[in-house]
Amino acid sequence: MFRAYLEGVKNILFPSLCFICERKTAGGYLCTQCQEKIEFLQPPLCYFCSRPVADNKTRSCKKCLHKAFAYHRVVCITTYREPMATLIHLFKYKKHSYLDDFFCGLMVSHLHTLGIDLSHYCMITSVPMHPSKYKARGYNQAHLLGKKLANYFKIPFRDDIIYGIKNKPSQVSLQGKEREMNVKDAFMVKDTLEGKKIVLVDDIFTTGATLQQCSSLLRKNGASQIFAITVSKTLADADQTQTRSSCLSKSAKEK
Ligand SMILES: [Zn+2]
Ligand SMILES: [Zn+2]
Repeated sequence: MFRAYLEGVKNILFPSLCFICERKTAGGYLCTQCQEKIEFLQPPLCYFCSRPVADNKTRSCKKCLHKAFAYHRVVCITTYREPMATLIHLFKYKKHSYLDDFFCGLMVSHLHTLGIDLSHYCMITSVPMHPSKYKARGYNQAHLLGKKLANYFKIPFRDDIIYGIKNKPSQVSLQGKEREMNVKDAFMVKDTLEGKKIVLVDDIFTTGATLQQCSSLLRKNGASQIFAITVSKTLADADQTQTRSSCLSKSAKEK
């Protein structure tokens, strides 16, 4: 009773404000309007890059059709647009590590909507971070997400099987091929994973190169299946160009 009273007083003195627009909220990080702006990626989507595909029977988009993937499927929960972009930025770079609960909630509820249950996987692991980066940041955001998910699905979380071996420049500043080259050999696995089905977690899907690299290491060490999951997916540069050029050709046709 007294606690509820204190909580009430606290809300009057220090109301919770939306992280995006600073309107008062009912207690969460986002107001209703900003919460509703979150774009969940709805199927049918490509199993390898989460781009929209024609129907539920089509597992691969045209771009992924002739490529080999070490992971069996990737699910990206939302687009990397507002309000997610700001929240993920706070989570990664501004020490708001407690946002792991919020992101885990989004992942769990969207997985439920998609009818995906991770509880039959043997373990969850996450994309590693170089120790020096870890030291500077104090936490690995992918690791926090993996741990929360593992907790929810009641399966083991392992942070000791893949680890970063060299400092890689921030992926944000790199493009396409250069980005793929960069993550090559950046991670090592130190375990035998014979026949294990593993969930691999990361925060953002950009080109998929990091997930591909980690998955292929896990597979080389015996893992039988990798299910990859990320909170958000960026529109890759190529996609944006494609969207822009298809708009151009459309308006050209309309003329
Ligand atoms: Zn808001
Ligand atoms: Zn694809």
